Amino acid sequence: MFSNKEVFKIAFLKRLEMLYGKSFEDSSTRDHYYTLGNMVREYISSSWIKTNEMYRTTQTKQVYYLSIEFMLGRLLVNNLLNLGIRDTVEVGLKELGINIHDIEEIEADAGLGNGGLGRLAACFLDSLASLNLPGHGFGIRYKHGLFDQKIIDGFQVEYPEQWLRHGNVWEVRKPDAAVEVRFGGKVEVVEKEGRFIFRHVDCQTITAVPYDMPVVGYDTSTVNTLRLWSAEPSPYPPGIDVLEYKRQTEAVSEFLYPDDTNDDGKILRLKQQYFLVCASLQNIVSSHRKQHGHLRNLHEKVAIHINDTHPVLAIPELMRILLDEEGMTWDEAWKITTQTISYTNHTTLSEALEKWPIYLFKPLLPRIYMIVEEINERFCKLLWERYPGDWDRIEHMAIIAHDMIKMAHLAIVGSHSTNGVAKIHTEILKHREFVNFYTMFPERFNSKTNGITHRRWLIKSNPELTNLLLNTIGDKWIKDPAKLDELMPHTTDGAFLEQLSNVKHTRKQILAKHIKNKTGIDIDSNSIFDVQVKRLHAYKRQLLNVLHIMYLYNRLKEESNFTIHPRTFIFGAKASPGYYYAKKVIKLINELADKVNNDKQTKDYLKVIFIENYRVSLAEDIFPAADVSEQISTASKEASGTGNMKFMMNGALTVGTMDGANVEIKELVGEDNIFTFGLSADEVMNLYATGGYSSMEYYHHDVRIRQLCEQLVNNFFPDIGNLFEPIYDSLLVQNDHYFVLKDFAAYVEAQERVNAAYINQPQWLKMSTVNIAKSGFFSSDRTINEYASDIWKIHGQK
Ligand SMILES: *Cc1c(COP(=O)(O)O)cnc(C)c1O
Repeated sequence: MFSNKEVFKIAFLKRLEMLYGKSFEDSSTRDHYYTLGNMVREYISSSWIKTNEMYRTTQTKQVYYLSIEFMLGRLLVNNLLNLGIRDTVEVGLKELGINIHDIEEIEADAGLGNGGLGRLAACFLDSLASLNLPGHGFGIRYKHGLFDQKIIDGFQVEYPEQWLRHGNVWEVRKPDAAVEVRFGGKVEVVEKEGRFIFRHVDCQTITAVPYDMPVVGYDTSTVNTLRLWSAEPSPYPPGIDVLEYKRQTEAVSEFLYPDDTNDDGKILRLKQQYFLVCASLQNIVSSHRKQHGHLRNLHEKVAIHINDTHPVLAIPELMRILLDEEGMTWDEAWKITTQTISYTNHTTLSEALEKWPIYLFKPLLPRIYMIVEEINERFCKLLWERYPGDWDRIEHMAIIAHDMIKMAHLAIVGSHSTNGVAKIHTEILKHREFVNFYTMFPERFNSKTNGITHRRWLIKSNPELTNLLLNTIGDKWIKDPAKLDELMPHTTDGAFLEQLSNVKHTRKQILAKHIKNKTGIDIDSNSIFDVQVKRLHAYKRQLLNVLHIMYLYNRLKEESNFTIHPRTFIFGAKASPGYYYAKKVIKLINELADKVNNDKQTKDYLKVIFIENYRVSLAEDIFPAADVSEQISTASKEASGTGNMKFMMNGALTVGTMDGANVEIKELVGEDNIFTFGLSADEVMNLYATGGYSSMEYYHHDVRIRQLCEQLVNNFFPDIGNLFEPIYDSLLVQNDHYFVLKDFAAYVEAQERVNAAYINQPQWLKMSTVNIAKSGFFSSDRTINEYASDIWKIHGQK
């Protein structure tokens, strides 16, 4: 049905008629989307079945990637591209008078994630399938993904996201594979033939129903599976409040919980975590049993990866299965569990390291709690033997301490591999955060620098640049992205640089048009597009960017001979609904935009745009249009970042601190092709340790800083009263925990270098080319190959 455009057109029209009983003339764009989606899913299905059969018959080792988030975005065009039929379909549709972009717009983003962590999981699935690796995702089919953001009067307002409202063409419900998950109740111990048997009784049961989505590899017949669990009521037990039970059950897969907010919904969040783990493990274990009859070789055939600590209950849950269901001894079960499971750490921010209070955990998961307690007791005994009398160390390393369960400790102790997500992040894990664990288990720690799929973030989202690359260096880089390096000889190729400039300009015009449609604001596509898009968080320091814009504005107003190349500052960011400070910063950006964009004296030089509802589909229009990539986190706090990689691959230059993967970007492109500034991670951590920072000194000694701080609370922003006082206080009363003021001067200076470099266009385009050429390292294909060979020990199937 996709062999050529004529065959496609006939098949499409016939399917449209069959599905909707409508003639082409009466059909809507939505009808076209679902028609095409159904055709593509059907086209995928035979390869999907074959891939699964092949995995069964070869009994090859599989990896299961457990993640509480998968931020997939849209799938239609990505699937067409990976299947190699995008051009046929695009041309066929065009001849029918349909624009494929209009169809694409119908698809809702599958936004089952908050940010980088969930998007990483999606990129990894794409790489696994494209590398023909036997790897599958397990997640939750949230009815509502990350909230929709609207900006009203400059403030963020949240609306429930509704991606399933019109159905999801990519999923297949598998009610026959449903499993039960149990909560609450109590544990009974009975002795049987000299063994203790633990039985979980009087519990509440929830049914986990799988919805499978195909994960299509690029130019290959491999189709892996993303299995998302939906929570549904089990057959109603007698004598319960049916409506209440139904409500409580469905709540488990109703909402994605923002991970960086307050304490609300804690129990529900824990329920979600166990729900994911318990359903996924039953699935993994039952297919293994079917094939091998026992679980003694589980670790030879299965790798289970936990993406951060949210799925860490996989460790005690697997122990429960091996002990209670298989009757193994503790030592046998422990060996298999630790050899099966591996863990990625995503953060060292203390507020984001998961801890669960026993009083919540134990009643909800009584048998799992018993097992965690025993893991802790055995681990503490080991510590005692190794470090007799060193109570301090034992207390710090224990899994349970002060009535809290430390999930990261459980993950390190109960797995064979702990990895950080960039070199500098792994060093911080090894030598600071988890130094005691590293001393004890050095062989478990390793680094896997994150990556992004170049298929979505370059080939799909930037066809103009893709064509230029194809015409310049051929297509070897598509299968082997490190070969983008072949662009290096073209850094001095005038004809190439001119075409690169044209591509960037085209993409800036496309984004400018989009912004005009959404906001009514005209932006100049000859201005520098300076972009910061990511979650709004104090450590990411959107505030530093804002203060710099205010500083430029002040100079333009006050100094008649001060001039800069025109700049458009573009922001996109969702704030966690309960994150008071972050929401203030969103309002501040919008107030600044209002002021700057409407000032006749400055509006030709400065524009500030806040694009609402930042998400994957929007990101695909933003990265190709960026000149400058803002990666200005407080050093040591951004574990890796992946936005930084998407910008680089699209030829934007980074203004950044020496944090996360920025450090590796600098190593690759060299110091002349990046603008780094500010405190190093060591300096930041030492300042915390010594208390040797006083933001007030910067206020007193730098007149620019004093003016900017005062402008937050005087009448610079009219009619807002004391709205920004909390931001002022964060800087000057709470001693500026994220060193915004301390890094301000260095940031201004780095931005002056950016301005100077941009004015020299041949030089800028050369720098841009180096960034594209060196970005192949950040393909998630490289990352996944490393996980496959170092951690999972799995092999490609072709
Ligand atoms: C890549 C991406 C992120 C992560 O961005 P960082 O700058 O690494 O925090 C977040 N959200 C979306 C939609 C993304 O595409």
